[in-house]
Amino acid sequence: GKPRLVVVGGGAGGATAARYVAKDSAGAIEVTLVEPNRTYVTCFHSNLFLGGFRSFDSLLHGYEGLAKDGVRLVHEAASAIDRDRREVVLASGGRLPYDRLILSPGIDLNYGSVPGWSKEAEDIMPHAWKAGPQTKLLKAKLDQVPDGGLIVMIAPPNPYRCPPGPYERVSMMAHVLKTTGRGRAKIIVIDPKQKFSKQGLFQEGWEKHYSGMVEWMAPDISDGLKSVDPKTSTVVTGFETYRDAALVNVIPAQMAGAIARQAELADASGWCPIDPDSMASRMEAAIFVIGDAAIPGDMPKSAFAANSQAKVAAMKARADLIGARAFPARYANTCWSLIAPDDAVKVGGRYAPADGKIREVEGFISKTGEPPELRRATQGENMGWYAAITADIFG
Ligand code: FAD
Repeated sequence: GKPRLVVVGGGAGGATAARYVAKDSAGAIEVTLVEPNRTYVTCFHSNLFLGGFRSFDSLLHGYEGLAKDGVRLVHEAASAIDRDRREVVLASGGRLPYDRLILSPGIDLNYGSVPGWSKEAEDIMPHAWKAGPQTKLLKAKLDQVPDGGLIVMIAPPNPYRCPPGPYERVSMMAHVLKTTGRGRAKIIVIDPKQKFSKQGLFQEGWEKHYSGMVEWMAPDISDGLKSVDPKTSTVVTGFETYRDAALVNVIPAQMAGAIARQAELADASGWCPIDPDSMASRMEAAIFVIGDAAIPGDMPKSAFAANSQAKVAAMKARADLIGARAFPARYANTCWSLIAPDDAVKVGGRYAPADGKIREVEGFISKTGEPPELRRATQGENMGWYAAITADIFG
């Protein structure tokens, strides 16, 4: 029969990989995508929903386009990878044999990384770091914050999904509060990192648009997070105890999605090492790991990066399976962040394999003090990017 490609995870990485292999191999490869959900909710631009710049519905994407391109859809979770037999075991017990497997399961949250927090506590102190009901819950809680109320964000340690994401979220929260008569509310960020992505740009923006509303606490200032108490909405650091917070947004430490770790494709870090020439797992040449679950060298964990890595894996899988021509791996990324209406910034680069890792070849970042027209144009790019990448991922 035809060579078989199975893709596990129908998000930014997996859906791109499945679609590209199906499209570019014109029926020569049997492509199956395993994804439990029938609708994908993008984390990317979920902060814009929070800020009132997008509807929730505009974050939703179905898999009809992939089906049209010839991808067979299995709407189930994969429960295991049988590496010896080269089969994906489905939650229902069924088995899908593969010649090549592409894994893009995204992240799992480390619920134990924040003392006092738990899976149950996410209904009270939401993470909204996986999009869906959590995204709506965070928005509902933001809408309840009174003027003069306190928001505490627990920021995650590196490495995590979307490095500028927490700080864009702070900006969007401040924007909502400021424009709804709640400018005396305060947002405190307890960060385990001494610095963060686009820091100078965010801090300039916070001062300019939300003066006095945002307080970012590096570990040497907060003396570290000690615990949270969901029952009393309390956050304790070595420096201070914050009581009766109106909203606590806990963004915990992260790791590769369970399916990749259970298949022993992760190392001690909890993430999956890959060959930068192909995105093939360092543990197993017949399996590619792409997107957030992979160790991406100089690339961040982003939808842009996952989509870029997916195209490399798709090309190499086609080369492996039907002898299609493969070119040297090249990667790209840009992360836009909206700070206030018409005030967006970006960071990005181009990447190539070097010394066994994905290395930045050339990078760029917005500058402080840029003219408003440039920031407005950057936000235009951001909106255009979302339309283009979701079309590229889902058809
Ligand atoms: P995902 O997109 O999470 O997809 C993983 C899929 O795998 C899911 O659909 C899941 O259901 C499925 N899955 C998991 N386990 C199994 C299993 N066992 N069996 C079957 N299926 C399984 N990125 C940007 O580029 N730009 C942005 O502006 C941006 N903003 C962001 C803002 C926020 C608030 C957050 C949280 C993230 C943001 N990101 C952004 C990051 C982006 O969302 C992720 O990097 C991207 O989704 C990673 O793609 P992925 O394919 O690795 O994982």
